[in-house]
Amino acid sequence: MAAPKVVTLEEHYSHPQLLGGMPRELGEALLDLGERRIREMDEAGIELQVLSHFPSGPQNLEPQRAIALARETNELVQRTIDAHPGRFRGFAALPLTAPQEAAAELRRTVRQLGFKGAMLHGRGAGVPLDDRRFWCVFAEAESLDVPIYLHPDVSPDAVVDAYYRDYPALLGPGWAYTVETATQALRLMMSGLLDAYPKLKIIVGHLGESLPFAIVRCDANISRRAALKRPLREYFHENFWITTAANFSNPALACSLMEMGVDRILFSVDWPFASNIEGRRFIDCAPISAHDRAKILGANAAALLRL
Ligand code: MN
Repeated sequence: MAAPKVVTLEEHYSHPQLLGGMPRELGEALLDLGERRIREMDEAGIELQVLSHFPSGPQNLEPQRAIALARETNELVQRTIDAHPGRFRGFAALPLTAPQEAAAELRRTVRQLGFKGAMLHGRGAGVPLDDRRFWCVFAEAESLDVPIYLHPDVSPDAVVDAYYRDYPALLGPGWAYTVETATQALRLMMSGLLDAYPKLKIIVGHLGESLPFAIVRCDANISRRAALKRPLREYFHENFWITTAANFSNPALACSLMEMGVDRILFSVDWPFASNIEGRRFIDCAPISAHDRAKILGANAAALLRL
């Protein structure tokens, strides 16, 4: 089968038991793993969605429940892939409260089910992802040669109290998600993780959560002060990919292209939180060459995920 030409990588679904408090319209979309989802993909010419859970799902539940529900929700993705061959792939949900089992579930889903990696949401079990307890998960991803997608999640309570309590609109995708995810990405670069696992592949959404804009200044200050093995910017260039999920901005795309090069930028929508048609229109109208457009729409994803 030829590689799909239009692929999106931050496209969410929910296991019915893990939906949480979601507005009805969004909840219905997240639970749909068939007709409506495929219709909206077809309207935007999206051939393949890589499915990932939203919200954080089983990731931070108590270990036994996390392990059981991660397996269950990954099986739900597998049934969806089987029901619609050629339209879906999966990023695994992992029980980070049981890191060894999370690594085992990543291995099982990739080796036995053909999943393309995993998505992690914010911190794991209340601590940043660079914590040593999670290195076994990243080691497994490197060994399987699949990427880990860093998705935003809620800010820690102390941060909410200090900055957001009186401006709640700053919480979530408007601002707090970007700060949280960029901070975790920087911590991963600084932790020594990427020296231990130099082939690790990390995806960050939303056109890099501001990192393409900030990385030169980060590099100039952090690399020296933190005594890193390699310059910070090298980790960013060699271990990171970014997606366009729900950040349909030509200035941000231009900056990302200049900083990272076209090969590291992947089309995504963040469905159902953003519209497939708007995301596709953004790429189709972006002031880039046809060659670069084809790479961003699908060729880069086909290479990274071996589609
Ligand atoms: Mn998302």
